[in-house]
Amino acid sequence: MKFCRNCGTQLEDNAAFCPACGTATSAQQEAAQQPAQQAAAQQPAQQAAPPQTDFVQPQVDSAAADAQQNRGIAWLAYMGLLLLVPLFARKRSEYCKFHVKQGATLCAVEIVYYITQAIVMAIVKAIFPGHIAYGYFTYYYQDSAATIIFRLLFGAGSIFLLVLAIMGIVNAATGKQKKLPLIGQIPFIEMLMDKIYAALNK
Ligand SMILES: [Zn+2]
Repeated sequence: MKFCRNCGTQLEDNAAFCPACGTATSAQQEAAQQPAQQAAAQQPAQQAAPPQTDFVQPQVDSAAADAQQNRGIAWLAYMGLLLLVPLFARKRSEYCKFHVKQGATLCAVEIVYYITQAIVMAIVKAIFPGHIAYGYFTYYYQDSAATIIFRLLFGAGSIFLLVLAIMGIVNAATGKQKKLPLIGQIPFIEMLMDKIYAALNK
């Protein structure tokens, strides 16, 4: 049994990252002792692929080394379409894969969110139209109270999504493999990204 060196959480023997705080476990030393099992457990795709053919790929010998080598590029996964950079440039990195899956899920949620916002706001404005308000020298269009309330609610949601992106960037850039709250539990995009990775690493 081992424990997280960062937060002390008890870990599964084969855990590469702490499930509580996302810190890489001390896999580097253990990888030296059991390189075959470690590599087989963590990177079956890499095992199957012919080694040394792609010199751009850094040689990844453990999850901790993977995180250390690729944290400089993995954070791009949370910058919208820039997730294509870690996806293609580090396609064999399990660390980048983890963050690209999280970033792609966040990106999909953002797209759905902003489409929903546009539709709902159009409906609210149709049901609760504003009116012309008169100032001292001019007049302007005054939105209805319902429109203003919905705009504030959607604004709060946008800020929440922005906070999630910042959390992802910080996790990825500091070597942590930690799922985002709420978004991290959505399986659909992860499954799609698994298929894309499988195709890329064929
Ligand atoms: Zn921890």
